[in-house]
Amino acid sequence: MTSKMVVSKFGGSSVRDSIAFKRSSNIIKETANLKLVVVSATYDTTNQLEKLASLFLSNYEEAFIHLDKVIERHLTIASELEVKSMVEASLQEMANEIRNLGPQIAQKEFVLDHHMDEVYALGERMSSTILWAYLQKILPQKKVILIDARDVIVTNTHFRKASPLPDEIKLKAEKIFTKLFEDDVLYVSQGFIGKSVCGQTTTLGREGSDFSAALFAEAIGASDVYIWTDVEGVATCDPRVVNNVQFIPHMSYEDAELMATYGAKVLFPRTLEPAKRGHINVFVKNSYDAAKTGTVINHEKGKYSLVVGMAFCDIHIENKDYLKITFVGDNLLNSDFAPHTHLSERGLFTQKYEVTEKIFSFLVDKIDEKLALELSHNLLLDILV
Ligand code: ADP
Ligand code: ASP
Ligand code: MG
Repeated sequence: MTSKMVVSKFGGSSVRDSIAFKRSSNIIKETANLKLVVVSATYDTTNQLEKLASLFLSNYEEAFIHLDKVIERHLTIASELEVKSMVEASLQEMANEIRNLGPQIAQKEFVLDHHMDEVYALGERMSSTILWAYLQKILPQKKVILIDARDVIVTNTHFRKASPLPDEIKLKAEKIFTKLFEDDVLYVSQGFIGKSVCGQTTTLGREGSDFSAALFAEAIGASDVYIWTDVEGVATCDPRVVNNVQFIPHMSYEDAELMATYGAKVLFPRTLEPAKRGHINVFVKNSYDAAKTGTVINHEKGKYSLVVGMAFCDIHIENKDYLKITFVGDNLLNSDFAPHTHLSERGLFTQKYEVTEKIFSFLVDKIDEKLALELSHNLLLDILV
């Protein structure tokens, strides 16, 4: 395969409305060597589809009204992009599949996982169809080909959190992506969804589209994956929660994976697995401000003295809510780095939780969340200087 092939993934906020679709499509137009675009459902659609599935159980009539609203919102986007006539029939056909599934969902006491995956898939199927149509319109010189990700991303049968089967995926990709080397071809497909070895729709876990993009990239032998999101890269901490974060220009696979595993939502944790196997550079960039540098993640070791960033997540122990704060870095096991004491000296309850060479975690009371994150991040910035 050629050395330079790019896969770009656009998350839900990068396709939240027609303006975002246009912004992301411009990025697509400008990206050299781009072979495949992987797209998430439009912003909040996956949550609305969860609601839809439970409405089939609790309020059957309302479920159909809810589904109509979801479809209508997509048709409005399509109409604003002037591609409604190209997509309306297939969106209605997809919606009908879910309408027909309604009675089966409603028969059970709870939403069965394989039913949920079928409903989830509607989100990515709709957004990718709209993007495909719009790209055809703005890139008349290209052949834009829509691929059903379920024909490529083969998984086990663990519905709602399926594990992909990379060897099978590679075989499928070879059969499906037959025009990879034609300069005028651009493929479009869905994140998040796959198909089990038994032929049923599966999903890779919430937020799993990043993982899909890396799996596709590995399967076609791409050199780079661009994860286009709503922040300008991986930061020292969640920029929506803490002020004064710094964006990290370069990270190793291992450091990025740890940040994600311990709570940094910017990347689905398993994204780095195919990237590592395929030696793929992962770029995290802002679709709202494409000129910003962003973060590149690859096999090279991160250049920092002790810590590179911090992540956090909720944790419930013996009926009590805690926040677990995790610093990611190097040589943390036998260093005198003790961030929890920095916080306890300021009157907060803290408890050391897990320490390895690469991470230092501790618990704080959930009610102290804001102060604890602020103090921890200030400490991190002090160390970075
Ligand atoms: P997308 O819809 O593009 O997949 P996500 O909401 O899944 O976007 O991920 C982007 C969000 O990740 C950001 O808006 C930010 O709030 C959050 N985030 C959490 N931790 C970090 C971090 N360390 N660096 C950057 N963003 C982070
Ligand atoms: N649409 C899915 C979700 O919201 C997958 C993704 O966006 O990554 O979880
Ligand atoms: Mg995401």
